[in-house]
Amino acid sequence: MPIYEYKCDECRSDFELLVNAGTTPVCPACASDSLRKRLSAFAVGRGDASRTPSAAPACGTCGDPRGAGACSLS
Ligand SMILES: [Zn+2]
Repeated sequence: MPIYEYKCDECRSDFELLVNAGTTPVCPACASDSLRKRLSAFAVGRGDASRTPSAAPACGTCGDPRGAGACSLS
């Protein structure tokens, strides 16, 4: 079940909510539904966030995540 971080446009409070499909999240402080969804810790680390620029590309031969040619060094 995904947890999302929201910021309320009405009262500016930050909070996390478990969001079920088909439900509209509302601010627990003022019950407004004018919320801005933010990236949650759950979302970070998936998708583009997992592709760090500093990471070497995986070995094209064996897919070793240590980088190209890593399989031949061992
Ligand atoms: Zn609010």
